[in-house]
Amino acid sequence: MKVLLFGKNGQVGWELQRSLAPLGELVALDRHSTDFCGDLANLDGIRETVQKVRPQVIVNAAAYTAVDKAESDTATAHAVNAEAPGVLAEAASAAGAWLLHYSTDYVFDGSGDKPWEETDPTGPLSVYGRTKLEGEQRIAARCAQHMILRTSWVYAARGGNFAKTMLRLAAERDRLTVVSDQFGAPTGADLLADVTAHMLRSALAGSAAGFAGTYHVAAAGETSWHGYARFVLECAAKGGKALRASPDAVDPVATSAFPTPAVRPHNSRLNTSKLRGAFGLRLPAWQQGVARMLAEIT
Ligand code: NDP
Repeated sequence: MKVLLFGKNGQVGWELQRSLAPLGELVALDRHSTDFCGDLANLDGIRETVQKVRPQVIVNAAAYTAVDKAESDTATAHAVNAEAPGVLAEAASAAGAWLLHYSTDYVFDGSGDKPWEETDPTGPLSVYGRTKLEGEQRIAARCAQHMILRTSWVYAARGGNFAKTMLRLAAERDRLTVVSDQFGAPTGADLLADVTAHMLRSALAGSAAGFAGTYHVAAAGETSWHGYARFVLECAAKGGKALRASPDAVDPVATSAFPTPAVRPHNSRLNTSKLRGAFGLRLPAWQQGVARMLAEIT
């Protein structure tokens, strides 16, 4: 079996290189790959890649994720997040392959405090959210064998992340100010990659398109960025790390205090019942993954 992965060096893509390897022969690409085209802005190139590789499974972890930059770089965000998934869907359908793709809670308007269900009405607030939603719609229209995983607040041990920023600031300053009116669940790229491999195994062993559709996936529980920051500093303090700012020195602040080009949703909570029921999975509490990541990086 052949698995074709786009976006191999992103947070999720890096972990997928590990979790997808046991499924079969893995062809993993990024935008600079020279053996096959992995640049999602090159629509003819990625179509040709699918035709040449002839995979049974395509996983797309590449995306235009610079949420603020997307507000002004609309054409590129649209090509990568909306048009490219549509092309991958057409190519997957022609090859008889499964397409697994990632999307975001930013397809919703962030209102209320109820965890979003897959069937809730969408209402993106930003170019990023709108282009990701269009990507979902193009996939659903063009490839029956698809799985779209909407997630939120993704972190990874590799590269920069919110926890590392908090630790750096807490070493430099006596007090920190962190947004307390956006809610979600920090979700590890490693968890997403493991869930992906499990879903693909089930889909490949199951009946035709029985598992096709959109699923919400996030770690269990919820917090605000303020609660997340406090947790990071609590873990660091327990681990004996010397910091100037204690967990109690993290001050809550409203989103409106930090204006950004793209509007962020206040409610990023995702209801994961559908995924857990369909695939027999248990999703761990967000604190478990964050504590593990902190143990790896400190
Ligand atoms: P990252 O930003 O870590 O990775 C995205 C990858 O896409 C990067 O390696 C980037 O490469 C690559 N990329 C960008 N443009 C292109 C292009 N034209 N051709 C090929 N590759 C390209 O994102 P995550 O791993 O966190 O995100 C994975 C998925 O999860 C995405 O679909 C994202 O929308 C979704 N998601 C992410 C969330 C988050 O908090 N991060 C939250 C919710 C959903 P390069 O580094 O070269 O730019």
